[in-house]
Amino acid sequence: MTPQIVRTIAELRKETAQWRAAGLAQAVVPTMGALHEGHLALVREGLSRAPRVTATIFVNPKQFAPHEDLGRYPRDEAGDVAKLGAAGAHLVFAPPPSQIYPPGFATTVSLAGPATVGLEDRSRPQFFAGVATIVAKLFIETGADFAMFGEKDYQQLKVVTRMARDLDIAIEVVGIPTIREPDGLAMSSRNAYLSAEERQRATAIYRTLREAAKKIGRGEPPKTVTEASAAALTAGGFRVDYVAVRNAETLAGPSQVGEPLRLLAAAWLGKTRLIDNIAV
Ligand code: AMP
Repeated sequence: MTPQIVRTIAELRKETAQWRAAGLAQAVVPTMGALHEGHLALVREGLSRAPRVTATIFVNPKQFAPHEDLGRYPRDEAGDVAKLGAAGAHLVFAPPPSQIYPPGFATTVSLAGPATVGLEDRSRPQFFAGVATIVAKLFIETGADFAMFGEKDYQQLKVVTRMARDLDIAIEVVGIPTIREPDGLAMSSRNAYLSAEERQRATAIYRTLREAAKKIGRGEPPKTVTEASAAALTAGGFRVDYVAVRNAETLAGPSQVGEPLRLLAAAWLGKTRLIDNIAV
């Protein structure tokens, strides 16, 4: 099935209004394109919850800092649309930036809570305001009932869930487990940046997180474990932004025995920044 492609908010509203009028629930899958199995898992999970799925493809300039990879972010719209069709998506919203940010655009969603805990927000200060602004717009524009997000971007999942709740947007944000390559590397559009040699070394992130989770589960002090993990990654050729263990819901530092925990890491390999996380 080839999904219909729409490029304007007016067309998007027209199509989704017809579904609503017919009583058909809709799931939305926001993406930046360069799609892989992780994205398609979100589409499939969306289809299991709603009879209509809209995927969005938009490389959102507002979430990139000037020195980041906006200009070289991988793009393959024709390939993406074919994959989305094969996965069963009904509609693809792929707007130009001018449609989303017309002249005079002046509004940004302002965040606290899980967006200001010193993880991604410390390395990328403008990132979550950009993400929350585009995601709020996509939620409003699609009027979707469900929104599918990957646990791969765990802090983003928590930020978006909080934002939808706080702004009373009537959408259920659903988190989907991370899809991995056979050797454990979390699938990511940015993995395409890795050289063959870096690609081999990249597997250390997941391996290190798994070892650390085991140790913390055995009762070793989280701080000692995460420091050792960061040192191991540094020895493996990474430049580490953070390895941290946090409350799995608030992303605040662990404070009580028995609370659910999440281990999160971000590290550079050459010019590529990789992130990953797992439950403890
Ligand atoms: P992106 O295109 O990188 O902005 O990602 C779009 C959505 O796909 C986000 O909700 C991501 O968390 C999700 N995603 C990206 N990679 C994976 C993965 N390996 N497994 C599951 N979801 C993913």
